[in-house]
Amino acid sequence: MVTCVNVRAPSSTANLGPGFDVFGLALDAFYDKITLSKTNKSITTNRPWHGIRILTTDNIPKNPQQNTAGLVIKAMKQKFKIKSGIEIKIKKDVPAGFGMGSSAASAAAAALAFNKLFNLKLDNKTLIKYAGIGEKASAGTIHYDNVAASLLGGFVVVKTKPFDVIRLEPPKDLVLCLAIPQLKVPKKKTMISRSVIPKTVKLSDLTVNLSNAANIVTGFLTKDSELIGRSIQDVIVEPARKHLIPGFSKVKNNALNAGALGVTISGAGPSVIAFCKKSQNLKKIGKSMEKGFNSVKVNCDIIICKPSTGPKIRT
Ligand code: ADP
Repeated sequence: MVTCVNVRAPSSTANLGPGFDVFGLALDAFYDKITLSKTNKSITTNRPWHGIRILTTDNIPKNPQQNTAGLVIKAMKQKFKIKSGIEIKIKKDVPAGFGMGSSAASAAAAALAFNKLFNLKLDNKTLIKYAGIGEKASAGTIHYDNVAASLLGGFVVVKTKPFDVIRLEPPKDLVLCLAIPQLKVPKKKTMISRSVIPKTVKLSDLTVNLSNAANIVTGFLTKDSELIGRSIQDVIVEPARKHLIPGFSKVKNNALNAGALGVTISGAGPSVIAFCKKSQNLKKIGKSMEKGFNSVKVNCDIIICKPSTGPKIRT
């Protein structure tokens, strides 16, 4: 009988410009590690949080009601009528609140670990749905782009009505250059950055985004990094959000001038992501992004990474 499961789930970038709440790409930059164990403390139905314990030394909520992994485990425990107590050990690697899918990596790892621990044999779509419940703790709303990428690896397209997720293998030569600014991010950052997005859009803007989104999918299908890169253009969400990131335009223009194929906000920010090809001068692109942040007196970390193939499970 399995009593303990370890899962590591990757960071991810959501939106990729025009694919707001639809596109996600798993990144091998960082991995969250979750160890799920059964404990003999049984749960009582009138105290639903009793029996779930979070152990972490990282700066995330320890209260399971506010932790993305805690919410996922609670939902799965209830659905499958699991009585035993659960201990969730979380080792964060994905920086929380920087648009790298940190809350989603924990949620995805928790769903996978629970599935394995109780031998539930759930399919990927069901696991993504459970992991999405966790996002409510951080973003206030359920959305699946980051959790789907973290759970499946590669590039994902999420469809909500009716729910479906498609996974595509990224081109082998696609490389990402991440600029993670050393800014103090507000606790409810995702909610704030969602609140600035326009409620209605011009039809001509919709057409631009739609054509770019279609070209991104085509780029992943035909393994064409250049097509992906030059389609990373968003005329709806990025213009509304960019003022939230000091130096964004400078970082973006510097990266494009240094040869990046496309540049946008990673998820809800404040990290900025450049889409590049392996053969390019990636150091130069990274340096140019750093200079962009430095020009507004913000330090940043530069990470050059590849798409991730997905999570790893160990019992
Ligand atoms: P990201 O941009 O990295 O996806 P979010 O803004 O969506 O990050 O979520 C980060 C917020 O979620 C933080 O306020 C953090 O306290 C909260 N949070 C809750 N549980 C977790 C978790 N397990 N890992 C990371 N962040 C979590």
